[in-house]
Amino acid sequence: MEQARMSYHCFSDTKTVARKPHRCVWCSRLILSGSTYRREHSVYDGHHQNFAWHEACRKDADDWFSESGSEEFATDNEMPWLELYRLEVADLGKSP
Ligand SMILES: [Zn+2]
Repeated sequence: MEQARMSYHCFSDTKTVARKPHRCVWCSRLILSGSTYRREHSVYDGHHQNFAWHEACRKDADDWFSESGSEEFATDNEMPWLELYRLEVADLGKSP
């Protein structure tokens, strides 16, 4: 008999350059336009997902998934390399 369990299938997980700002699904912060990020298309428990990740967040998430054994995660996680991100954001605010 089939057991009721969550199913996850990833269709694509690509590294791409943001042409406009996106919201990272892991830390809920903006992915800045022009920066490299990860785009994930997947199906989880029958629902289509289209997620954007900071590269560093994606790595943290992968570590977290393998350590915790969990398939679900909360948003608003702490962002890795937050200081670096702050510098990048501050850079954008500078006048030419
Ligand atoms: Zn992030």
